Amino acid sequence: MQTCSDDLIIDQTHPSPNYNQRVFFLVLHYTAEDLDKSLKTLTDGTSKNPVSAHYLIPETNINKERRIFQLVKESERAWHAGISTWQNRTNLNDTSIGVEIVNLGYKDEEGIRKWYPFTNYQIESVIELAKIIVERYQIFPTRFIGHSDIAPGRKVDPGPLFPWEKLYANGIGAWFDQKAVKKEMENHTNILDIKQLQTNLLKYGYGIQITGELDKQTTTILQAFQMHFRSSNYSGEPDAETIAILNNLIEKYYPNS
Ligand SMILES: [Zn+2]
Repeated sequence: MQTCSDDLIIDQTHPSPNYNQRVFFLVLHYTAEDLDKSLKTLTDGTSKNPVSAHYLIPETNINKERRIFQLVKESERAWHAGISTWQNRTNLNDTSIGVEIVNLGYKDEEGIRKWYPFTNYQIESVIELAKIIVERYQIFPTRFIGHSDIAPGRKVDPGPLFPWEKLYANGIGAWFDQKAVKKEMENHTNILDIKQLQTNLLKYGYGIQITGELDKQTTTILQAFQMHFRSSNYSGEPDAETIAILNNLIEKYYPNS
């Protein structure tokens, strides 16, 4: 029994089981800044463009202690996703936990994009943290995603060097069956059906319009998909391997769709 004033009683003796969690998604980012600047950016209360995340993962331990930062309570809404879409939901700040990893992102040198790698410390920390969050909110594998997945074209983080497959090997997130993909590539007649491709991207989660055309939105989304699942080549071309990976993910995670 709680009272909130002298004569109003808030009676909590009839709890209802009819509710669910705020959190459906876990979104990964890199900060594109070093630790000091990342902390400043993510905690700046006077910024004209205020941003935040629930967690920040530094590049290495601090004073020999394994440490990550929690900047916003999980029950609260952090401002990390911006304009975003996944699995027919928009504004993912409402329904997600955001994890920022300290990483400088990329630099373009003589027309070549060079990405900064993540440290083992970061990957191990993300695995440990993600396991807890995924377990706590029962986050479905296809809802463990990158900023680039939910805002393709606008965002590229966490970038092609993020080891999604390694996280899958540790029980977190989605990955395809390599043998099945190889088999499909061997057997496939490979007639490219753009409408089917778009339908599968939509089913998987991407915010795509079904146009039947290989238009700009489709190649942009394919680039985001490739950065996540086939990062050796993220040109946005709908090649046979990309299609086979997507088909396998749909079969594996949405068998009745
Ligand atoms: Zn981001």
